[in-house]
Amino acid sequence: MIIVMKPGSPDELVKAVEDRIAELGYKPHTIRGVARTVVAAVGREDKTPLTQLETMAGVEAVIPILKPFKLVSREAHPEPTRFDIRGVEVGGRRISLIAGPCSVEDEQQVMACARAAKDAGAQFLRGGAFKPRTSPYAFRGLKERGLEILQAARDATGLLIVTEVLNTSDIPVVAEAADVLQIGARNCQNYSLLEQVGATGKPVLLKRGMATTLSEFLMSAEYLLSKGNIRVMLCERGIRTFETATRFTLDLNAIPFLKSETHLPVFVDPSHGTGLWRLVGPMARAAIAAGCDGLMIEIHPNPDHALSDGPQSLKPEKLLGLMPDLQRVAEAVGRTMKG
Ligand code: PEP
Ligand code: MN
Repeated sequence: MIIVMKPGSPDELVKAVEDRIAELGYKPHTIRGVARTVVAAVGREDKTPLTQLETMAGVEAVIPILKPFKLVSREAHPEPTRFDIRGVEVGGRRISLIAGPCSVEDEQQVMACARAAKDAGAQFLRGGAFKPRTSPYAFRGLKERGLEILQAARDATGLLIVTEVLNTSDIPVVAEAADVLQIGARNCQNYSLLEQVGATGKPVLLKRGMATTLSEFLMSAEYLLSKGNIRVMLCERGIRTFETATRFTLDLNAIPFLKSETHLPVFVDPSHGTGLWRLVGPMARAAIAAGCDGLMIEIHPNPDHALSDGPQSLKPEKLLGLMPDLQRVAEAVGRTMKG
């Protein structure tokens, strides 16, 4: 059930509703929107006792949420969610840009990427320090040393750091260094990781699993929100299909579908979604046209020598060259890439 408060309801009325929900044996989750506040009551199967909240002061309506996902649903929060990450707004008119290498390899590589990302107007620097790799013999990241390199790049450029957390035991060390915790495609349905990352309160970039339906993807995000974390970005990164010409098939349907079902910002990763750098620009443009709130693009100063994902990485000058195109498409759909 969601309890929709009347516009401008003071905090004490919201608090009284939260207390009553808890007394009735449910868990209250309050979502404060720009226009109004709603309180979601989750937990017990039988929702009938909650109908009595209709008579409480400040309550406009008590509405059942019919979807299996509750806190992430548009019903719980009709307006798109906007939030702040250390002074950077996500989910507003500006389309966010996350750029950086697949893996952190060394200081020079990361600094070259950070400068390129900054020049292109990105707000976030990505880079994997703990890497999920198909082969146990492949480069699996510099781990703690990689996190230090990312932090040095943040100090030098002011870009915020997005980096992957692979398992629950790494959460403390990664959360200490990162501004945004990335949960990778292979962990999209790792429910204990989702819960524990959700509990950190750190912003999360949740990537869709390569064989995860959109409904399952939203249920994964629900795990994060159920732990009280509202700063969640969803990221479409391509799914497995019969097609082998590209590494994955970037599911652009996901953008308008997710935007209609959830209030959370939707990001798109055309690098993993295609696996081919020549396709990254066109698919980034298409993602903006379809309504995404952010892009994540892999770059590398020397893709031929990259330790991971070189074939899909843009050279810094290619990213820079792409930006005017992205800006034109953004403007055509009422958005901007600029601050
Ligand atoms: C990555 O972002 O480098 C990555 C490993 O992505 P995914 O989890 O989508 O494969
Ligand atoms: Mn990668």
